[in-house]
Amino acid sequence: MNNAWSTEITRLLFLLVSIVVFGFVSSYWLLSIILHFVMYITWVMLQLGRFERWIRNGAHSLHAPDTSGIWALIVQHIYRTQKKNKDRKQSLSNLAKRYQAIMKALPDATIVLNEHLEIEWANQIAVDVLGVDIERDTGHRVDNIIRALSIQELLKGEDAKNEIEFVSPIDEHKTLILSKVRFGESQILLTARDISQRIALQKMRKAFIANASHELRTPLTVISGYLEMLNDDDQLPSSMKNLMSNAHLQAVRMDRILNDLLVLSKLEEKGFSEDRGEKLDAANLLKQVVADFEKISVKKSHSFEINIEEGLDIILIEREFISLCQNLLGNAIKYSADGSMIKLCWQLGKDNHACLRVSDSGEGIAPEHLSRLTERFYRINVNRSRKVGGTGLGLSIVKHIMDNCGGYLDIKSELNVGSTFMACFPENRIFKNGR
Ligand code: ADP
Repeated sequence: MNNAWSTEITRLLFLLVSIVVFGFVSSYWLLSIILHFVMYITWVMLQLGRFERWIRNGAHSLHAPDTSGIWALIVQHIYRTQKKNKDRKQSLSNLAKRYQAIMKALPDATIVLNEHLEIEWANQIAVDVLGVDIERDTGHRVDNIIRALSIQELLKGEDAKNEIEFVSPIDEHKTLILSKVRFGESQILLTARDISQRIALQKMRKAFIANASHELRTPLTVISGYLEMLNDDDQLPSSMKNLMSNAHLQAVRMDRILNDLLVLSKLEEKGFSEDRGEKLDAANLLKQVVADFEKISVKKSHSFEINIEEGLDIILIEREFISLCQNLLGNAIKYSADGSMIKLCWQLGKDNHACLRVSDSGEGIAPEHLSRLTERFYRINVNRSRKVGGTGLGLSIVKHIMDNCGGYLDIKSELNVGSTFMACFPENRIFKNGR
């Protein structure tokens, strides 16, 4: 038994002894009992009153009621609990302060939204680049404050699209990338990063490649012309013939690479457009491309099986459509054995897309290369590609043409079995039988 309880029991024993002594001396036993109990209850009530006042005033240790026994124990317990609560509150408040400091120090604009997409909190950078006014806009829907069509798309329920690129509503020279992250029950964290510098660098790189390719073409054409002349010169010693012919071949190869680089930069510059181009008689153009290949293939190395849906026209730039067909057919020829068959099919496909399918039964492509084939200069076997006159840019050009018109390129291949390249154009670019 601890001290407090023994004090309390001593107190009760003292009360009992006092009742007995008073009753014995006065012979008024009942009066003695009632008097003592009234005194005890009054004392307990006084203690309770002091306690209530102390707790009401914040239960500070300095003003704790001066008590003993079980009452002192209660004071101790209350004081300890109170202190623990205070400490916890303090550490929570420190944590909240630290969290706010971290959020403020974030290099990106940050906005916290509740489940109704209303602004709950924003940092200073959000004020600077997104035009959010913390005082004015807290509690307002974010899409009423940042008015951009793309932000509405980002906020739309589905989480598939978690990032968008858009121009800052405050400064039209700034391009931002806005990301959405869900947290807690249904809150959203929006962060916006300034990517203007990255875009400017990309533009510079593209401009550099375009300018360099353009500048290199003229001297290269001259060199190539001289080499061709020398190559055809009968007076050239036979030991030099081989050298000249090789140099001319390399010059032609370089010219092809520069040409493809220029085509790529033009495609990049144009970017996506919903409806750029003119209505093309795709069936006719495809037949022409195949006929051209048949004409230049002196040895008639490959045979073609053609399945073309007449009257299936598309809107596209003619040069781009021809380049796309030439690249896919050219690759099928380059990477399949002489004498093999190449299938070409132009038909309405899945989701009302018009699809050009080019299949060969050539060397095929291992799965690990498939996702990288459309990168610039990506070649599975560089020597092989050079030998067949490849530049490593053909599929990159095809991919850009498809991206620019909202279509897609699908590649299926099996090593030593063959490959199928399928370029599909969106429904809005298709005319079937004139409609
Ligand atoms: P290249 O000018 O080298 O042919 P491409 O961009 O057209 O460049 O193609 C990239 C690479 O993809 C090629 O080097 C080749 O390895 C592979 N490739 C393209 N088409 C085929 C095909 N039909 N069969 C096998 N491999 C192919």
